[in-house]
Amino acid sequence: MSTRPDPVAVPPRCASTRADLPGLDGHELSTRRATELRAHLAGCPECAELASSYRSVRRTLADLHHVASAPPAGLLDSILERSTAPSVRERAAVYGRGAVSGARPKVIAAGAGVGALATVGAGLLAWRALRGRRAAA
Ligand SMILES: [Zn+2]
Repeated sequence: MSTRPDPVAVPPRCASTRADLPGLDGHELSTRRATELRAHLAGCPECAELASSYRSVRRTLADLHHVASAPPAGLLDSILERSTAPSVRERAAVYGRGAVSGARPKVIAAGAGVGALATVGAGLLAWRALRGRRAAA
């Protein structure tokens, strides 16, 4: 068992200071506690550096509030334009829907006629083949 002090360990006074550091610049601490922290920061460079990084993060977050959040010019027009123009998929779907819904009756009638002729032709061939076998037997 080692008795050497842990080099990463934070002294208790620094630990309690660091726990309250995030509230120091946001005026979330009592005046007394803020005075204690500032006195500690004056004599502890490690905690002072940490306090500085907290201030930097706080400033960066505050600056984000000023970032423009308006959409780029023309975005709405572009979206509306695309929403009204049919896509390739939509055009294909409309073509297919027309064939199914009867919007193109000539195409449907031609397809049904070809199908009926093929069925009748296949049946006739099968009937003749069977008839030929029976006649041969
Ligand atoms: Zn410290």
